[in-house]
Amino acid sequence: MDQSRLRIAIQKSGRLSKECQKLLKGCGVKLNLREQRLIAHAENMPIDLLLVRDDDIPGLVMDGVVDLGVIGENVLEETVMERQAQGEAAEFSILKRLDFGGCRLSLAVAQDANYQGVKSLEGKRIATSYPWLLKRYMDSQGVKFKSVMLNGSVEVAPRAGVAEAICDLVSTGATLEANGLVETDVIFRSKAVLIQSASPLSASKQAVIDKLLPRIQGLQQARE
Ligand code: ATP
Ligand code: ZN
Repeated sequence: MDQSRLRIAIQKSGRLSKECQKLLKGCGVKLNLREQRLIAHAENMPIDLLLVRDDDIPGLVMDGVVDLGVIGENVLEETVMERQAQGEAAEFSILKRLDFGGCRLSLAVAQDANYQGVKSLEGKRIATSYPWLLKRYMDSQGVKFKSVMLNGSVEVAPRAGVAEAICDLVSTGATLEANGLVETDVIFRSKAVLIQSASPLSASKQAVIDKLLPRIQGLQQARE
């Protein structure tokens, strides 16, 4: 990889990828995105894109492997808490809050459950992909629970009998409803953010960032 080019990690495919590509295009970055590629080079600016799973993006930025990354605050905050718990460095800065990727991390239970507030979950099993964010919330409420870690299909856990509740991302609520669940507590609200590594940047990379930021600002203002 050419060390002089600004490296930006974005989600390869998923809910953030289209918006990220649109954002870069809107900034005038000409991309040659071929499927299945890890790296894409911009044709008209010294920028290389790393196309990865969203879960890998905070770590790539915190370890200084890439200069910038676009990531949901939910994944970012979960990674920070996990790294801190393991005594690992979790340094980065937020360059810009973006206007897409909005969702919330919520608790949900079966529609026919007798839910009387979060205390009802005392000693219960809660399925989630976000154990640290969940634990922080439950600790703040003084409720003990058992975490069931699932990286997918969280919403089927209650029906499958592996948990009494779930803690999952929600935007419209349609997935919850389709699975016979009802949202009870919002524990974290999230949007996509542009983050920067804490490692010092060369003047030429900084110059590229200084060009991109006002363009992003302009795009977001135009959409308001
Ligand atoms: P990957 O394969 O990259 O790991 P993923 O399945 O973990 O993808 P996506 O479902 O594509 O992730 O979601 C990526 C991010 O999009 C989420 O972490 C969240 O910040 C945001 N998002 C916005 N709306 C939703 C939603 N309704 N459900 C899930 N994520 C959402
Ligand atoms: Zn993911």
